[in-house]
Amino acid sequence: MNTKYILLCKAVYFSFFPQSSYSDKTHLFSHAIFIIFAAKFTYMSVTQELAVNFNDTKLAYRYKTTSELKQAEWMFRFLNTPVIGALGKSGLKLAIQLGLPVKAAIKATLYKQFVGGETLEGCLPIAEKLAKFNVMSILDYSEEGKHSEADFEHAFNELYSNVKFSATHDTTIFAVFKPTAFISSAIMEKISEGKALNSSEEASWEKAKTRFDLLCKTAFEHNYRIMIDAEEYYTQEAIDELTYSMMAKYNKEDIHVINTYQMYRHDRLDALKKAFDRAKSNGYKLGAKLVRGAYMEKERARAIAMNYPDPINATKEQTDNNYDDAVRFCMENLDNLMVFIGTHNEKSSRLGAEYLVQQGLPRNHRNVWFSQLYGMSDNISFNLAAAGFNVVKYVPYGPVRSVTPYLIRRADENSSVAGQAIREIKMLKEEIIRRNKEA
Ligand SMILES: Cc1cc2nc3c(=O)[nH]c(=O)nc-3n(C[C@H](O)[C@H](O)[C@H](O)COP(=O)(O)OP(=O)(O)OC[C@H]3O[C@@H](n4cnc5c(N)ncnc54)[C@H](O)[C@@H]3O)c2cc1C
Repeated sequence: MNTKYILLCKAVYFSFFPQSSYSDKTHLFSHAIFIIFAAKFTYMSVTQELAVNFNDTKLAYRYKTTSELKQAEWMFRFLNTPVIGALGKSGLKLAIQLGLPVKAAIKATLYKQFVGGETLEGCLPIAEKLAKFNVMSILDYSEEGKHSEADFEHAFNELYSNVKFSATHDTTIFAVFKPTAFISSAIMEKISEGKALNSSEEASWEKAKTRFDLLCKTAFEHNYRIMIDAEEYYTQEAIDELTYSMMAKYNKEDIHVINTYQMYRHDRLDALKKAFDRAKSNGYKLGAKLVRGAYMEKERARAIAMNYPDPINATKEQTDNNYDDAVRFCMENLDNLMVFIGTHNEKSSRLGAEYLVQQGLPRNHRNVWFSQLYGMSDNISFNLAAAGFNVVKYVPYGPVRSVTPYLIRRADENSSVAGQAIREIKMLKEEIIRRNKEA
């Protein structure tokens, strides 16, 4: 509870009822009543002071024209129609596989909604537009599904340019990468399972480690911060170990390297706590990005197919509880930890914001960031930013063909995550109606 209100109430009380009159039972009773009112007043003041209203559509969509809102509403309606959405997605996969000329259609619809541009430079107009409303950007290189050494080399070069580019622009606050962009999943799987590598795998792994280090070192040298995304369960152990070794090198004074914890895994809350203890005992700080996790169906199917225990929580409620416990754990340890709350969940976002206010900490605490994906949950991002909290959007970029797997994931999420598309449609509709009335 915010102590400044309690002190204020006490001061008012003692000016009316000095301690000398405590023997009087009437005054003791009035003291009790006063304390109850003080507590209520304190609670109301804190809630009022927080002033984050995720339903304020005017603030949420300030950066979009009405015609952009209508297009977005159409897009979410399309994704939310089960038959059309499923047909659209499978049609899209097939069209890409067959090399059909669907680029223009994708670019005008899904791509426009969820992607910032084809190149780093191409994303700057969007990053600048968001920054006008204190929403910063992370330019997320989103080419996926490449496996050859030439692809890895190409991806690494792009990521290296990305770190340098992002670190030297005011609107971009963190860099990020997916390890599988330049490291073979098969090698990470072997390492995660403790299996020996053959000599050519060993050589690839050494090269990957050098590249991983170079990205983190570049961020460190620019006094910048870099996040490592989490992917499939079977690669994570290798990524974790590599990331902790980077933290030991670059997070001694400040936090430059940030790992990701997927709270849909039932072992991750424990992993987060252990990572924190390990950091503390080895004299470095922990960077923790918290997400729920994006590969649930795939993970469950793999566990069944390969006959090992499902790594994912049995229920959504367990995932939610783990996520919120992780937020609380991080918020209680901000002296030695940076938390990045990556979610479209209003309750979890509010939990982090309320903690800051209730503890009397600055809303823009340098170790607390809230984040959503570009094109989704603007009501959370823009309202948090307007209320003074640190907010950053993941802005994916890449050529249309290469970001299609990312777009299909967004399409899946918006048709399968209960209520996500419905929430988006409702907010967009409300704002369109509000603007029509205002006009
Ligand atoms: C900024 C940002 C960065 C991200 N980075 C990553 C990343 O690096 N790696 C990654 O994997 N994902 C990442 N994601 C995606 C994220 O993991 C989620 O898939 C997505 O955000 C939806 O979860 P939510 O917390 O936003 O919302 P919610 O709608 O509250 O939660 C949906 C999520 O809950 C979980 N869930 C749903 N049903 C069940 C069930 N029956 N049992 C158990 N759990 C269930 C799933 O994880 C599902 O995605 C990122 C998301 C954001 C916003």
